[in-house]
Amino acid sequence: MAPKKSVKERAEKLRQEVNYHNYRYYVLDSPVISDAEYDRLMRELQQLEAAHPELVTPDSPTQRVGAPPAAGFAEVVHPAPMLSLANAFDREEFLAWYERVTRLLERAPFDMTCELKIDGLAVSLLYQDGALVTGATRGDGYKGEEITNNLRTIKTIPLRLLKPAPRLMEVRGEVYLAKEALNLLNQTRAAAGLPLFANPRNAAAGAVRQLDPSVTAQRRLDIFVYGVGHVEGNSIPGTQWELLAWLRELGFKTNPHSRPFRAPEEVLDYYTSWLERRHELPYETDGMVVKVDQLVYWDRLGVVGREPRYAIAYKWPATREITRLLDIGINVGRTGRLNPYAILQPVQVSGVTVKQATLHNEDYIRSKDIRVGDWVEVERAGEVIPQVVAPIKDRRDGTEREFHMPAQCPVCGGQVVRPPGEAFALCTNASCPAQFYERLVHFAQVMEMEGLGAQWCRAFIEAGMAKDVADLYLLRLEDLVKLERMGEKLASKVLANIQRSKSAPLSRLLFALGINHVGPVIAQLLADRFRNMETLMAVPTDEMEGLQGIGPEIAASLHGFFNEPRNRALIEKLRDLGVNMEEPVSAQAAAAGRLAGTLFCFTGTLAAMSRAGAEKRVKALGGLASDSVTRKTTHLVVGTEASDAKLQQAKKFGTTILDEQGFLELIGERRG
Ligand code: NAD
Repeated sequence: MAPKKSVKERAEKLRQEVNYHNYRYYVLDSPVISDAEYDRLMRELQQLEAAHPELVTPDSPTQRVGAPPAAGFAEVVHPAPMLSLANAFDREEFLAWYERVTRLLERAPFDMTCELKIDGLAVSLLYQDGALVTGATRGDGYKGEEITNNLRTIKTIPLRLLKPAPRLMEVRGEVYLAKEALNLLNQTRAAAGLPLFANPRNAAAGAVRQLDPSVTAQRRLDIFVYGVGHVEGNSIPGTQWELLAWLRELGFKTNPHSRPFRAPEEVLDYYTSWLERRHELPYETDGMVVKVDQLVYWDRLGVVGREPRYAIAYKWPATREITRLLDIGINVGRTGRLNPYAILQPVQVSGVTVKQATLHNEDYIRSKDIRVGDWVEVERAGEVIPQVVAPIKDRRDGTEREFHMPAQCPVCGGQVVRPPGEAFALCTNASCPAQFYERLVHFAQVMEMEGLGAQWCRAFIEAGMAKDVADLYLLRLEDLVKLERMGEKLASKVLANIQRSKSAPLSRLLFALGINHVGPVIAQLLADRFRNMETLMAVPTDEMEGLQGIGPEIAASLHGFFNEPRNRALIEKLRDLGVNMEEPVSAQAAAAGRLAGTLFCFTGTLAAMSRAGAEKRVKALGGLASDSVTRKTTHLVVGTEASDAKLQQAKKFGTTILDEQGFLELIGERRG
């Protein structure tokens, strides 16, 4: 039966849309929809065509990859087509692929290699008698752009192979830009008023497809090689796993995280193990490519459209989406900061519905030119709160509005000021209820008053039971039970927890007080150093500033806080109510001081632990950690894939540079 007219029209519409997005993505390096949205369009088209094969046209985007080579480059015809990969978006889809392969191979046993799917762009490197002769982009899969001179600037691409190889051999790999190089590039582009690259693949593509190779050379591109195409002459290894090892021997860089497996459960475990860890990699990945290991099976499995059946790209859940910025709201924080946030048209990002996202501060909004009504890219990576990354300016229709910070606090009407040199605006009214509410919630949370969550803090304020944080210690059972939904049992528990919090160490109290710039690390440092509140309050600003880990901003903030009579009165009140003002010296704390006075920075990946784990160990031993190398950094720990920029900075400042072993030794965790 011929498909209905509506189906035909839909297929045609989808073809047009996908082609348009391919053009924006592959030719202009400037997509206007998210990858997830694109994948949905492509899927719908594939499903329509599968149900109605007569609708498949030879020029359908389901039959071709990418886009034809752009003008300005010579064309290269690939000796063997460069295909795309079919996607799996969840466990069931991966298992369905595995079952299909098992069926097609008539249950013959096979292994699989798992490789990280690097988010860059595919290139083909043609070697003749061991020398690189041509380098090309994937283009439309059949014809690519000749970019040999640009690829020659990538130092990890061998110009000559280290060992004898087939007479003619096409090696394929993914050219990519490390996260740090992408940030740097986007910063330079922002400063020059140029549009930012939406993702690492577009940035790498932009860098590789330069007409002037010296521009490519500046972009710090790298490559991971993952396979071969056409081969003439000697034979190659028989499995993907051996092939990767052989490519390494020839002088290519392959990804160190590839693994061979037999059982699909092992593949699923390996995939899951990378879900969180992937954020620690210095480059972006968008999933895991699983390939049938035995190369003899590849031909037998064949190709559907543009997708070989021997492999599947098992994608990570999308961490970026594009949605509409409906409005910009303001939330007043406990230190009085006015934090703008995005009110979004709800959108699913890595399995969670996102309705709000942070916009950081006014400067961020201004520098990215984010306007109310814009289509914006929203990111939710790891545990991080969702953030608006950038507007899609090409989707504007002229109705978008610029944002201005209000002159009055939206909660109390107090005057809003922007302190000189700061990126944020402040409500100047110290008794602003929004500030107090946030401060009370923070105090209860940090002092570990279990059961006393945000909703109760609000109830206490509304009932007039808490006018400052010390009032929590004055709460009585008979007052609490008057509150709606607060029974006697809960009230007793809350009161017991409030009482218990009185013995918290000074470090916790300092953090709980919500002093601007005093987070848990600084609070601990101050408490370790001065041991009690009285001594701390008497330290002159210049002495404070001279301390390791304390800059002028923190010193000024402490000075301001302790000089405010209302704050001094609050501390007195807390003391009178029996709240501890001392830091106990425990045996553990004494031992923990081994790294006191140090400031660590980590770069690259460590084999024994995550970066967060390493930072935790440093802090447990009394040291500090930060993300960048400054004059104050005492140690730089260098893992694999380390940042060259950080290394150079460390050398410049005479910072101690350690490798992982050196670091483990220093913290007393040497591994054999
Ligand atoms: P793909 O990126 O999903 O998979 C194929 C590619 O994976 C290969 O060509 C290769 O470059 C790469 N790859 C990385 N590591 C690999 C490894 N270890 N082994 C083998 N290959 C590896 O497919 P595609 O055809 O390149 O691009 C389609 C995808 O591009 C879409 O799913 C979408 O995410 C994105 N896209 C987005 C838009 C948009 O408008 N947002 C438009 C077009 C395409």
